[in-house]
Amino acid sequence: MSRFLSQRLRSLEPYTPGEQPKTTDFVKLNTNESPFPPSPKAQAAAAEAAKKLHLYSDPTCRALTQAVADHLGLGFDNVLMTNGSDEILSFAFQCFCDSETPAVFADITYGFYEVFARLYCLPYEKIPLNEDLSLPVEAFCKAKGTLFIANPNAPTGLSLSTAQIESILQSDPHRLVLIDEAYVDFGGESCIPLLSRYSNLLVTQTFSKSRSMAGARLGFGAASEEIIRDLNTVKYSTNPYNVNAMTMAAGLGVMADEEYTRANCRTVMENRAYTTQKLRDMGFFVTDSQTNFVFAAHPQCHGAVIAQKLKERKILVRHFTSPRIANFNRITIGTKEQMDTLLQALEQILKEEN
Ligand SMILES: *Cc1c(COP(=O)(O)O)cnc(C)c1O
Repeated sequence: MSRFLSQRLRSLEPYTPGEQPKTTDFVKLNTNESPFPPSPKAQAAAAEAAKKLHLYSDPTCRALTQAVADHLGLGFDNVLMTNGSDEILSFAFQCFCDSETPAVFADITYGFYEVFARLYCLPYEKIPLNEDLSLPVEAFCKAKGTLFIANPNAPTGLSLSTAQIESILQSDPHRLVLIDEAYVDFGGESCIPLLSRYSNLLVTQTFSKSRSMAGARLGFGAASEEIIRDLNTVKYSTNPYNVNAMTMAAGLGVMADEEYTRANCRTVMENRAYTTQKLRDMGFFVTDSQTNFVFAAHPQCHGAVIAQKLKERKILVRHFTSPRIANFNRITIGTKEQMDTLLQALEQILKEEN
């Protein structure tokens, strides 16, 4: 820390991204990336756009915003494209929380929520997940502030039905509810159709997981025109060119290749069912994930030991140290071959440890 650092940032603990190894010989199951390359249409469009990088990108992101809005059955003014969905989350914390309106989120959820609350010096409240790690609907209904709910939740993989989200929305129409649908394309129920009936709903999604574009940084928020206007105020006060030209083009390319995205999601879901079953056969407790990862713990071998032993075998998974989930690992669903490599390694590790 330099002596110049603002007082406000001195105790901030930044988000820790999953390890990106320097060598390529790892089976990388630690950051929930897609195992499949981006759509060929996305790749071709990005290459074409590279020829015009001397020009600023379109600050209104017109063509891509319209394509996403059309896909969701929404209007152009109901969508804001951002630099990853982390950016729309950042805008939302800046826009819709203050000293009177705390940010409210689960104790076990996406780590960035707490980082943003602290970065922007916002009061916040953490609501404990239920004993079975499911999201606490009742407690969310009673909470005061702006709610941030990852649905499906990470790293548990568990989700709420739209009926449960509706009960939260109805419990206080004067409270904004942000539903972070980063993983919704892997079997969850999207809240996008609720937007026409609830003006206190903001839904965010990302191109990082189901659309194989984590490195492009593309996400969006969908909400009422008023909410989108508020978010645009922050966008135009931070970075009007928040989505770069190559990413914008790649986004349009993948939106024109919906069957490619659907097919990849189906494969991930098949591999998830396969992996879940095999892990359970080995004695793991595995949640019923509706995401592109599984969340698993073994009664006879600690999560930290498993993560370490896998790393020695060049397989990366994500281990979290917070006490309630320290025995678990979050394991990204990759190709069938990658999952078989993982499962074989786990069998060996369990033999060694017991
Ligand atoms: C991955 C993820 C995001 C954001 O990803 P971006 O790459 O910034 O779009 C947001 N929320 C959750 C719960 C995630 O897992």
